[in-house]
Amino acid sequence: MAKPKRKTKRAAKKPAKRKRVTRPMIQIERFRFDEEQRCRACSEAVKQGDACFIEIVSDWDGDGESQTWTFTHLACAIAKQRQEVREHLLATDREELRELAGEVQRLSPELFAEIAHAVPPDRKAMPLDDPFTLELLAQLDETPEDRALLAVLGDHLAQRGDDRGELIALQLAGNTGSRVAELCDILSFSSFSKPVWGIGFLRELNIILGGRPLATQAQRLANPSCRLLQHLIIWQNRRFELAQKDAPVDVTPGSLPRGLRVLDVIGGLPPLDLSWMPYLDTLVLDEGHELAHPTLRVLELRATDRATIEACARGMPGVERLKIERLQFGREPPADLGELLEHSGWLTRIRELELQGIPAGDPLRAAARARDIRLVETPLRTI
Ligand SMILES: [Zn+2]
Repeated sequence: MAKPKRKTKRAAKKPAKRKRVTRPMIQIERFRFDEEQRCRACSEAVKQGDACFIEIVSDWDGDGESQTWTFTHLACAIAKQRQEVREHLLATDREELRELAGEVQRLSPELFAEIAHAVPPDRKAMPLDDPFTLELLAQLDETPEDRALLAVLGDHLAQRGDDRGELIALQLAGNTGSRVAELCDILSFSSFSKPVWGIGFLRELNIILGGRPLATQAQRLANPSCRLLQHLIIWQNRRFELAQKDAPVDVTPGSLPRGLRVLDVIGGLPPLDLSWMPYLDTLVLDEGHELAHPTLRVLELRATDRATIEACARGMPGVERLKIERLQFGREPPADLGELLEHSGWLTRIRELELQGIPAGDPLRAAARARDIRLVETPLRTI
């Protein structure tokens, strides 16, 4: 039986001794990968969306780390390695467990009985779609910290029987007790990177995609608790398949909360007019060759290429503060950065320029002085 294999080479990492990890890392999740795989137990194909028991074995050699991924249908794994499955279901992300619970119940009621205590309760959050709620939310998009507006929304939601109404009232009163924690748990989703709550809604969320498309997180982002999200970090730290590294994060119009203020993306953005997020103030990114936003004020570029610097100058006329950072292991900035900033039009519009880990050089310092641009040079961040 041919074992399905995934190989990836990470950046050369050469440990002094050859190291072998024999115990695989295990994940239980739905299959959402491009490459076709066969089940280790029954040799049948693993289909998109099938619940899967995934074993990942890392190995190191002179070229760096390589990983072998082995996929088993969850049903086959329950039949053959039930204790391991149980152990890892109990350790899995609670949102993923919520999603898998129905399937586990169908495949093995006995196993379900053993994990039921760990499955999060059903959400009682309302869809937030009645006209008065929509009107209040539209106002809150403009002033998300407005406590008076939040109080009106909280009362209204409480009358509709939505738990969020109680949460808003408790938080506005400064309550941080166990009922608040319980309501946050009911209304949200668990995550490896704990989301930050504002009043009644999540304020800040960190999504690590690990090779999956952003579309796989659409359900989370559509959770009513994300409706007033202010700060979103999306990191595409790919786990394998270096060939995929050029595919940007699949943000599409309307796929993120419209009230976002800060968007931070690692992994690049596709050609995109971002004006559907009218309050967006700060964008942090590494690559984006055709991006536009009419009023964005702060742009922070990480390890950025020439095309991104030029494209953002064209598409983002409102930027006042530009930061360009060289990362410790990232690509080098264009050698003629000063000239590039000049001829792409940046220097005629910004008021502040921060260069992190990049020496400005005398001509750029003089150009900044002549135009009254505050130039800040900060040292390379090292890990
Ligand atoms: Zn199978």
